[in-house]
Amino acid sequence: MAITRGGVVIDPASTSGKGVLDLIHESLLLLDSVGRITDINRASESLYGWSAEQAQGQLADDLLQSRSLSGAENPASNLHRAGSWEGELRRRTVSGDEVIVDVRWTLDRDADGKVIGIVETGRDITARRRAEQALDDSELRYQNLFNAMAASFWELDFSAIGPMLRALRVAGATDLRQHFVEHPEFVRDMMRATRVKRVNQQTVALFGAGDPQSMQGSVEPFWPVESSSVFAESVIAAVSQSPSHFAETRLQSVDGRLLDVLFTACFTEEAVRKGLLLVGIIDISERVAARATVERMQSELARATRVSMLGELTASIAHEINQPLAAITTNAEAGLRWMRRAEPAIEEVNALTLRIVDDARRAADIIDRIRNMAVRGSPQRVPLQINEVIDEALRLLRHEFSAHGIRVRLDVATDLPPIHADRVQLQQVLVNLCVNALQAMVQADTPQRSLHLRSLRGDHNDHIQVDVEDNGPGIPADQRDKVFDPMFTTKPGGMGMGLRICRSIIEAHGGAISVGPCRNGHGAAFRFALPLSSAPE
Ligand code: ADP
Repeated sequence: MAITRGGVVIDPASTSGKGVLDLIHESLLLLDSVGRITDINRASESLYGWSAEQAQGQLADDLLQSRSLSGAENPASNLHRAGSWEGELRRRTVSGDEVIVDVRWTLDRDADGKVIGIVETGRDITARRRAEQALDDSELRYQNLFNAMAASFWELDFSAIGPMLRALRVAGATDLRQHFVEHPEFVRDMMRATRVKRVNQQTVALFGAGDPQSMQGSVEPFWPVESSSVFAESVIAAVSQSPSHFAETRLQSVDGRLLDVLFTACFTEEAVRKGLLLVGIIDISERVAARATVERMQSELARATRVSMLGELTASIAHEINQPLAAITTNAEAGLRWMRRAEPAIEEVNALTLRIVDDARRAADIIDRIRNMAVRGSPQRVPLQINEVIDEALRLLRHEFSAHGIRVRLDVATDLPPIHADRVQLQQVLVNLCVNALQAMVQADTPQRSLHLRSLRGDHNDHIQVDVEDNGPGIPADQRDKVFDPMFTTKPGGMGMGLRICRSIIEAHGGAISVGPCRNGHGAAFRFALPLSSAPE
């Protein structure tokens, strides 16, 4: 059969015609008017595995087990109605493998318009369809995962942030973190430029939105100002090519509630290239509330032990207050004497009155400090000098030490930077360590009792260290870990809570406390370290 196209006649039976058809990369099937194969080209032979001789005379649909993938339409009737048809067919090769072929059928007519055959060109699209199917499957799996996960998931489009950061660089900003700190409005702008693409049902429920659509738009409304730094840090993590960024933070629901959440941003290479960001959010409100309760209880317990400690120190405290009171009485009596003179000595009276005022202030200060220790509730972190805290603790105990014959040695570094800490809590730690040392020495009847306090900069300059050492009986090596356990005590009537509380106070400040033997081998040496910067709240 010759094919006539645009006035050109190609006769596959002729050597040159056959040669031309074999040059075509597409598979070519020549069929007669009822669909019987008259010839196939080389591309077709290699696609289906049948040789031209084997195929000739066979019905193409039978030989290749064709099935249309183009929905309900009937390809044959379409072909005869319109003169051509295009669509996808699923076929089988000689070895039974399935192939998907994108075909185009055209009717071949003679000069009178009578159908004399059908020409089929086809392209093997099996690999492409399989890849698309695999992609669809994986998209479906992702969708299912996205929707079925118990956590809140977000797909964000942050493609607008790249140009913003580039503009920043061009303008000369080198340190992104510093720029974000100094320009909080820039961070808010980045949030505004980050758009929600998709959220799952858990997100809708957690954030109190009616439906996913109402969460579309920028992410800015979900970030309270207090959490801006977490957003800034995740941008920095993305820029520095970290695979992900985690943080505990607070986000804001649609109806304005603040939610404590664990925030995770994933920066997979491909997603980042597309400007996509996958964010997972886990609601940890209950955990945070439970932690707050534990902290409140610890703080209550610490207060209770402080009060009981103060009870033990009544003699010392009374002495501390009695000193200025006695001085006031003496000075007031002297003042009265100067006044009763025939010629009252106004200047002396004046000087004495000033001393009275000073002493009264001193007594008031002491009472104030004790009141703080006894009634103060929630801890407050402020910048403070550790040496001042040591000094205050020692003043509270001065009388106690002298009453028990304890010599106190103090070695403080004078150039210590301030730390960010709660004054009353640190006082409690110091008083506790000192009272323990005192009781140990008294209990063991240690001769020539001495207590050595030291403050210094720690190694690497990133923390300060405080040592409290005594020359009492010390702590046996196998008990050193246990002394920080709750209820561990070797004292009659002891509670065993003091060191436990010291440890939780120091750890809450981001520090650590430990005990070892004194350097000279006698007595106990307690040591605690507090970080110099960014102590956790
Ligand atoms: P408590 O004072 O009620 O016993 P603590 O937790 O303060 O509770 O102390 C626990 C135990 O640690 C004490 O009973 C004692 O055995 C031991 N200990 C603490 N400090 C010293 C010290 N400086 N020397 C020897 N033993 C000590």
